[in-house]
Amino acid sequence: AKAEGRGTHRLFESQMGVQVRDRRLLEHDLRGALVSQQLSLVYQPQVDLESGEVSGFEALVRWIHPERGAVPPSTFIPIAEETGLILQLGEWVMRTACIQAASWTAPLMIAVNVSAVQLHAPNFVAFIERLLAETGLAPERLEIEITETAMIRNMNRALANLRQIKALGVKVAMDDFGTGYSSLSNLRAFPFDRIKVDQSFIRSVHDNDQSAAIVRAVLGLGKGLNLPILAEGVERLEELDFLRGEICDAAQGYWFSRPEDISAFEDVVRGSRKT
Ligand code: C2E
Ligand code: CA
Ligand code: CA
Ligand code: CA
Repeated sequence: AKAEGRGTHRLFESQMGVQVRDRRLLEHDLRGALVSQQLSLVYQPQVDLESGEVSGFEALVRWIHPERGAVPPSTFIPIAEETGLILQLGEWVMRTACIQAASWTAPLMIAVNVSAVQLHAPNFVAFIERLLAETGLAPERLEIEITETAMIRNMNRALANLRQIKALGVKVAMDDFGTGYSSLSNLRAFPFDRIKVDQSFIRSVHDNDQSAAIVRAVLGLGKGLNLPILAEGVERLEELDFLRGEICDAAQGYWFSRPEDISAFEDVVRGSRKT
């Protein structure tokens, strides 16, 4: 099978999705990756649109497989969630991101993705509390990003954990707003500090009236509820111009920067330059 070459394998994988046998192999390899330093974090700036300055970074995990090369998170995160490996992986991500942010001179925010499995784990809050104490990171500088789908699994448990996390001073953002099991009642039920509008709406905002109307409505909602809005996946100047015109609070996307190794942002985290 190896002789078929990786090109064939990649093509197959991208067209058909990861097959069962392949998933099992990946699961096995992911366990190894956790202990053999194949995982790393990249960071993507989040920009305050009023000041134009970087307010923080979202940490995104990367896996460089020794034979396959880069495996996208959209492939291995679901596997990690199904197998429970996400608990270990998530703790590694959280710890690495907090240690990184604690080392910055500029008191910028660090946003970390947290999956449903983690949010529902009984020791999650205690882990965060211990980590903040260990790293000395100010709780207000940490923001966890959660999707609505993550909340829905077990509402009560999720809500209880979120309240405790917020009581620590940690911020909570609703990720991918507008996709999945979106419901406006979630905005009222859960104590979010801000909303990240999914990139699928931003992508077409400058040439699609429906997307523009949706984004406008979400921005209005944010104002009414006093919830800052961050627009995800801003790739073009037209998109940014639209968002500025509609008074969107913050944005993130390739227009500003792709997610990069933190060394690419040395000046920013030192507080000596803007971007
Ligand atoms: P997400 O949290 O919605 O992250 C945003 C994704 O969009 C990232 O993909 C990012 O690289 C990509 N992106 C950012 N700006 C742009 C843009 O302007 N255009 C386009 N086309 N894409 C942009 P990535 O890094 O591949 O991550 C995919 C998803 O995997 C994330 O979506 C998140 O759900 C999950 N993920 C990544 N890292 C972690 C992690 O550490 N823990 C957990 N639980 N999930 C993670
Ligand atoms: Ca996110
Ligand atoms: Ca998102
Ligand atoms: Ca997403």
